[in-house]
Amino acid sequence: MNLNETHDPARRSWVADANDPAGDFPIQNLPFAVFRDAHGAVARGGVAIGSSIVDLATLRACSPFEGLAAEALDAAAESTLNRLMGMGQPAWSALRLALSRALAEGSPLREAVETALVPQSGATFQVPAHIGDYTDMYTSVHHATNIGRLFRPDNPLMPNFKWLPVGYHGRASSIDVSGQRFRRPVGQTMPPGADKPSFGPCKRLDYEFEIGIWMGTGNTLGEPVAIDAADEHVFGLCLLNDWSARDIQAWEYQPLGPFLSKSFATTISPWIVTLEALEPYRVPWTRPDEDPAPLPYLESEDNRSRGGIDLTIEAWLQTSEEREAGAEGHRLSHSTFAHSYWSVAQMIAHHTVGGCNLQPGDLIGSGTQSGPGEGEAAAMIELTQGGKNPVTLADGITRTFLEDGDTVVFKGWCEREGRVRIGFGLCEGTVLPAREL
Ligand code: CA
Repeated sequence: MNLNETHDPARRSWVADANDPAGDFPIQNLPFAVFRDAHGAVARGGVAIGSSIVDLATLRACSPFEGLAAEALDAAAESTLNRLMGMGQPAWSALRLALSRALAEGSPLREAVETALVPQSGATFQVPAHIGDYTDMYTSVHHATNIGRLFRPDNPLMPNFKWLPVGYHGRASSIDVSGQRFRRPVGQTMPPGADKPSFGPCKRLDYEFEIGIWMGTGNTLGEPVAIDAADEHVFGLCLLNDWSARDIQAWEYQPLGPFLSKSFATTISPWIVTLEALEPYRVPWTRPDEDPAPLPYLESEDNRSRGGIDLTIEAWLQTSEEREAGAEGHRLSHSTFAHSYWSVAQMIAHHTVGGCNLQPGDLIGSGTQSGPGEGEAAAMIELTQGGKNPVTLADGITRTFLEDGDTVVFKGWCEREGRVRIGFGLCEGTVLPAREL
């Protein structure tokens, strides 16, 4: 993928607040979502610009674009983005270019686009595509080692970790957008030293900061996606919280992996930042010399030179009192997706190598993105060493795991010298008390 005029840091929008250098949604970003406006109109596609949304259904009625961009706009205006996702990279690029020109200072289309702007405040968002399948992976060596040490002190990192991106098939039905409020799950746990399990509310509720990978064009059953073709199949990325019930997980996970400990809720940010928008923040994909080289289907020069994405991630916690008072809360961790042991292209190449077909709108979680340093752990279980050492958030506020009423807020953004900062918006979710037993 090449840089083009849509990435030009000098391009400014006639939407004044899109030119705020600290904002998430400048004209260089142009992420997609599905929303309803404050009047509750039918859900439709939208693109973020500053604090506004370009309502793509309203824009489409003005027929502002031609050719492939017009065809892509038709698909993007629908109540799910699956058809746009299935159209492929040339269509996504054509629409991005047309929108970028229409929103740029001096555009002759300004008047038409202005009628399609609605404020983000007051809009409600929904899951932007029908998710046929959801896969959750496990690609941070730091997370895998930290959590492995807690679950299996004698054998923290399983021997397959450095050879393949480990994953499991998750539930799509319980995925919701930012603002999700869910009940603390109940289930079976095996207390230390007990000879039979207990049943009741989860006592070790956790979050996991992951990157969500939205599939664009799929592949035919039986025909793998080669590593160097993988990026063309990816529509974009979002932020993803894989809420986790650690005590339920510890008892149920062997031998087939997580089940009820993960399937009660998953929260995603509503905006999908396209891979094309992320192009300026690509970094080399590297691994330590002493680690095994990937097998040929997971190895390529292109992946080595630009497989990583320097996406800064931060997790925050607000107590219910702080949320009501409008306080920002407390930062739990700060890291970057560039630390991932496996790249997005490697995840796609591995997922399909046995013949599995991915489809437009499928979602892949990257796995918890913990970094190597202190304060870079992307889950409470790591921050508190398995609940042994509570973290102090402020005077009188400590946590080992999440409490009822807690809201976890994820933020993500990319910035680089000579480039405009682009952001992902927020991914927020709130824990409600367990149902009564
Ligand atoms: Ca996970």
